[in-house]
Amino acid sequence: EPQLSGDFATLMEWADKVRRMRVRANAETPLDAETARKFGAEGIGLCRTEHMFFDPERIGAVRQMIVSETEEGRRTALAKLLPFQRDDFTALFRIMAGLPVTIRLLDPPLHEFLPHGEEEIAELAASLGVDALSMQRRASDLAEANPMLGHRGCRLGITFPEIYEMQARAIFEAAVAVAKETGKAPVPEIMIPLVMVKKELEITRAQVEKVAQEVFSETGTTIEYMVGTMIELPRAALTADKIAESADFFSFGTNDLTQTTFGLSRDDAGKFLPHYVERNILPKDPFVSIDPEGVGALVEIACEKGRGVKNGLKLGICGEHGGDPASVQFCETVGLDYVSCSPYRVPVARLAAAQAALSSGTMDRNA
Ligand code: PEP
Ligand code: MG
Repeated sequence: EPQLSGDFATLMEWADKVRRMRVRANAETPLDAETARKFGAEGIGLCRTEHMFFDPERIGAVRQMIVSETEEGRRTALAKLLPFQRDDFTALFRIMAGLPVTIRLLDPPLHEFLPHGEEEIAELAASLGVDALSMQRRASDLAEANPMLGHRGCRLGITFPEIYEMQARAIFEAAVAVAKETGKAPVPEIMIPLVMVKKELEITRAQVEKVAQEVFSETGTTIEYMVGTMIELPRAALTADKIAESADFFSFGTNDLTQTTFGLSRDDAGKFLPHYVERNILPKDPFVSIDPEGVGALVEIACEKGRGVKNGLKLGICGEHGGDPASVQFCETVGLDYVSCSPYRVPVARLAAAQAALSSGTMDRNA
């Protein structure tokens, strides 16, 4: 049972008095959300909704949603997924009890949702009443050579709008239900992944707003919400002033931003990167610590451009770097409002945020 106690708990209280940045956690399961709260997280900074879809009870419908060649087929699959997602978000809103919850709409590397191997293909084909050969063909049509640079994130939400519509409906129905049940309305922060041009955010934002209005009029209840974007591609960072016009917040996805700035695959870099670090070609693993000259420079540009258009634009980070002390220091310097990291790194992030505030002079040392 995770719990902070004794001297460690006291140290954390001191840290909380001096830090300026908020600390949130990346969590999608109720267990992770509970752990995050016990470790002092002040909200969820990233709920990766694709992780919710691998449950054996749902994966069949998820595969159906992806391989269907018609909107009707996708809608049939999505109707099966809606109650699951509504329960997922209801549980998170209850646990987080009014703290902010950032829910990122679906961002799968598509290949993880495709049927693999003869058995899975045959099973899916049978469940959809099509022959195995045409299912095989469909699966290979959808397969990509570079899935991480492919049909993922908002690209999927734009080509198949009914997917984000289902998720938005689940979020708003859950939020309204929890507001009625507890008398305290959750404030969902809906986050759009992998935005590269403002238009993508405009389109997906309009989809979310339309569903919000539908749910509010069906239930007779209105709640507040935000729609923001991940900044995780260099192009998004460089055009952050335009993107900010349609965003209520930015969250830096420094995992993908590192991958795309360095041109280094997240999934394969481990094969030679240690050699680079050993020879000091790179001073540190850039997937662990923000590289100030590359990724850091892009983050800084995006903060300035974003806040130049919207004073007080909410800024956070939810890549792995959010739990790395040196990166937390960097986040303080550029003025982020919060860092979000895995639940078990929350105490480290609270300490690092306090240290960063002290060394940047953003807090009174005598506080
Ligand atoms: C990121 O890219 O930094 C991020 C937080 O999203 P994911 O790791 O899910 O791609
Ligand atoms: Mg990402």
